[in-house]
Amino acid sequence: MTEQPATQERTLVLIKPDAVARGYVGEILARIERKGLRLAALELKVAPNEVAQQHYAEHEGRPFYPSLLEFITSGPLVAAVVEGPRAVAAFRQLAGGTDPVEKAIPGTIRGDFGLETQENLVHGSDSVESAEREIALWFPAL
Ligand code: UDP
Repeated sequence: MTEQPATQERTLVLIKPDAVARGYVGEILARIERKGLRLAALELKVAPNEVAQQHYAEHEGRPFYPSLLEFITSGPLVAAVVEGPRAVAAFRQLAGGTDPVEKAIPGTIRGDFGLETQENLVHGSDSVESAEREIALWFPAL
């Protein structure tokens, strides 16, 4: 029996301000492209407060929420729409787990370059539904 090709998906990727400040934009984009995923949109910007709040709305009330908002708006980040077969899971695999030391294995972006749970270099949508909501938030024209 032949396997069906995987469904095409889009996911929202952020290269967070720590990664931009440390000069990892090219390295991270290269890993996305080497995996076979495609860039469908790309923008360098400082996140407006309202966008940051909506992006992380699910974490409102958590102890780390205020510092997370401060961090994510602290300097330029790169927002990207990345597409390809199973793009949501594919980028989450490239990123590694949230805590770069305990949960992200070497070979992943966080596992290779991170030490801090908050300043963990990248964001990737956690489901197709989240991706569509986040793409509409960061790229309303798409
Ligand atoms: N975060 C944090 N402290 C924590 C957990 C998460 O500062 O204890 C930050 C971290 O930057 C993380 C983001 O909040 O990437 C969103 O958390 P989530 O659990 O959704 O992790 P992700 O999907 O980014 O791996």
